[in-house]
Amino acid sequence: MDLEKLLLRKVGEAVTRFKMIREGDRVAVAVSGGKDSMTLLEALLLLEKRAPVQFSVCAFTIEQGKFLRPFEPVGEYLKSRGVDWTYHHDRPSIRLIDEQPDHGCDLCSRYRRRAVYQVVRGLGANVIAFGHTADDFCESFLRNAMYTGRISSLPPVTWSRDREFRLIRPLVFVSEDVTRKYAESVGAPVIPCGCSQKTGTVRNSIRSMFAAFEQEHPRLKESLLAAMGNLETSRLLDTRYLDLDGQAAPDAEPEPLFPILAE
Ligand code: SF4
Repeated sequence: MDLEKLLLRKVGEAVTRFKMIREGDRVAVAVSGGKDSMTLLEALLLLEKRAPVQFSVCAFTIEQGKFLRPFEPVGEYLKSRGVDWTYHHDRPSIRLIDEQPDHGCDLCSRYRRRAVYQVVRGLGANVIAFGHTADDFCESFLRNAMYTGRISSLPPVTWSRDREFRLIRPLVFVSEDVTRKYAESVGAPVIPCGCSQKTGTVRNSIRSMFAAFEQEHPRLKESLLAAMGNLETSRLLDTRYLDLDGQAAPDAEPEPLFPILAE
């Protein structure tokens, strides 16, 4: 299938299934300089013209001192695409690098979240779109199950604490094979982040594990995504969902995810 059609079909399905975008929304796309967020931005710009609901798209980037190259090429690209884009140089994050160079992701994310809300508020947007892909959902699912003892992944839709912003992840059904090819096909510049070059992290171990399994089971991630939309709570160990007294009505069938995931 044509790459653009495939991307729009998968993003369109996520947007509809999880009610991500609604009439009158202003969606701010978090552009991180990677292939995923650039693909997300392009997909939403296309949907903005074609979707049955009226919404507008803008973009922003938070500079936390971690980009490995100057960000100008992205700015020029976005300008040429006519995107309303804000580049925010976050001083507290830069100070954090100076004062605590070994800070972890928790602190970095907290600083970024504060900056994101501030910038998005200034853009007059009510929805924030992040470029997490199907790969990220699967990795997060396995990481949580294997290292933190929880069955959970990333939420496709969630809200900021006071419900000021709806946070959405429209690439939930889009794999990184697709974002890589799509970003290349439109000539979007990609600026690496220093953190993406680190090796030896849990994330990289899980990625290597996926790559090895996928040699024999190329649809492994589709199956994992389908599993996330098809919980059999009566076959897990959480007593909140177990019918210990034999009183509960049988579970209704979930809406199947496999047809969406098939290309
Ligand atoms: S990977 Fe790097 S940029 Fe991302 S949250 Fe962690 S410290 Fe911050």
